[in-house]
Amino acid sequence: MSSWRSASSPLENITQAVASRPDIAARALQKKYLLSVIIPCHNESSNIAPLFERTRTALEHTGQFWEMIFINDGSTDDTLLQLLSLRERENRITVIDLSRNFGKEAALTAGLDHARGDVAIPLDADLQDPPELIPELFAKFLEGYDVVNAQRLHRDGEPLAKRLSSFLFYRLLGRISNITIPQDTGDYRLLSRRVLDALQRMPERRRYMKGLFAWTGFRSTSVAYRREARHTGRSNWNYWRLGQLAIEGITSFSHVPLQLASFSGMIIALSSFLYAAYLVIETLLYGNSVKGYPSLMVAVLFLGGMQLLALGIIGEYLSRSYEESKQRPIYLVQDTWSSPIENTDIQQENA
Ligand code: UDP
Ligand code: MG
Repeated sequence: MSSWRSASSPLENITQAVASRPDIAARALQKKYLLSVIIPCHNESSNIAPLFERTRTALEHTGQFWEMIFINDGSTDDTLLQLLSLRERENRITVIDLSRNFGKEAALTAGLDHARGDVAIPLDADLQDPPELIPELFAKFLEGYDVVNAQRLHRDGEPLAKRLSSFLFYRLLGRISNITIPQDTGDYRLLSRRVLDALQRMPERRRYMKGLFAWTGFRSTSVAYRREARHTGRSNWNYWRLGQLAIEGITSFSHVPLQLASFSGMIIALSSFLYAAYLVIETLLYGNSVKGYPSLMVAVLFLGGMQLLALGIIGEYLSRSYEESKQRPIYLVQDTWSSPIENTDIQQENA
């Protein structure tokens, strides 16, 4: 398959980053890698064409083999049609159609499971992650990194409230979880085969991908970029889903909320003992004026509230372990249109 190979010569095009480092350029020449770009799509019909063009250009610049894996995550518009017509023209495209909308994390998992590349790059379909960064991410991979995070510097076109909440969330999560999730990174990053294999060994149903990526460890680094406004369409996220994801991230990677519940329970129980002792002494000294109704109500309501909170937190963890114990598949595939190119074609090229 001739189209499998990039048109341009690798040395010419492997971006300034690599060109300025002859040792890296040499490594890129020794072997050609396969890059798998993974794109979950939910109602992105108008973004598909520009996304494809820009991504292809960026991939050609690396001078490597590449494939694009599009996952249609239960779109209700003509995203699937768009993808299939694109595939008519370009045989390096694989289209996976999920049986319904499973959510971005599941769609991404489906794509990662199907990726055959030496590296995989998850990319949002709305062009908020500039595909032009791919050569730079790849250059870092050639330097020997397994995870190259694309770290966003600035978010154009996103409301202040969203920027602020995500800023606070990443810092909170960093504080209370036992893994370090790199700040201000989305799902846009480069993952080596080693990381992909590690991800395959993580069976959890509730997948907070950013956390899972970070949990794997390995040598990682970051490349900074400016996050753009959505190309067209509306964000599929709303505050409810964002909140859900935040809870997901915290409960999957931290037990602090559980400890918080028992800790504050202890403090409150202790202080109510002290308060009771104070009341007894007060009554002994000054007699009982039967005016305790307000303080009683306050105590009852406060403790009731605390108990509900603690129960709620326990419930969050419990529902997750219930979810895990069901062992349901993370996603279901309705149809797959694989790329006709075989791995052996690449091995032959490299031989
Ligand atoms: N997405 C998906 N399934 C969903 C929601 C979103 O596959 O249920 C995809 C969407 O098509 C896009 C990416 O996930 O490619 C990010 O979605 P969005 O732009 O809505 O999220 P945001 O950029 O606001 O975090
Ligand atoms: Mg987006």
